[in-house]
Amino acid sequence: MNKDKKSLFRKVNTRARGVHHNFGGDFKYSRNQKRESVEQTKGSMHGKKERGLDYTPLFRFLQSKVDTEWNEVFSEAISRLDKPEPIFWLVAENEEDKKDYVRIGESTYFSGLYVDNDGKLQLTKPELDAKDMKPLCNCCTHTLNGKVFGTK
Ligand SMILES: [Zn+2]
Repeated sequence: MNKDKKSLFRKVNTRARGVHHNFGGDFKYSRNQKRESVEQTKGSMHGKKERGLDYTPLFRFLQSKVDTEWNEVFSEAISRLDKPEPIFWLVAENEEDKKDYVRIGESTYFSGLYVDNDGKLQLTKPELDAKDMKPLCNCCTHTLNGKVFGTK
């Protein structure tokens, strides 16, 4: 098999995409402080400590492998990553880790995944669709699996 061994992550210029606001935070008085995104109480917020690396290609790869043998997906993903952890930001390792969706960046979401009893990768909530989701603010483009909220 002539596999595409392109990396599933990319380096990013984090300065160019600085955090511009926090939901519920007081942006006006904090512009000179070093900002950290507020940890969500529900769901999960990942990636904030991974400055400079963007795993979007991995997340798109995983979404494209729904209903595929997990062992194959996993070994290919591993071979194209610098470390395995980002895989498990999306893919639940056990039942209680399952999430409908995972927030990756300030307004970037991907569907949560898990491995079913047949060893195949599945969506935790297949009916979740960007078109049914409403953004939390108007100043950011919110996306689910790369699709803008409220669009088909
Ligand atoms: Zn915004």
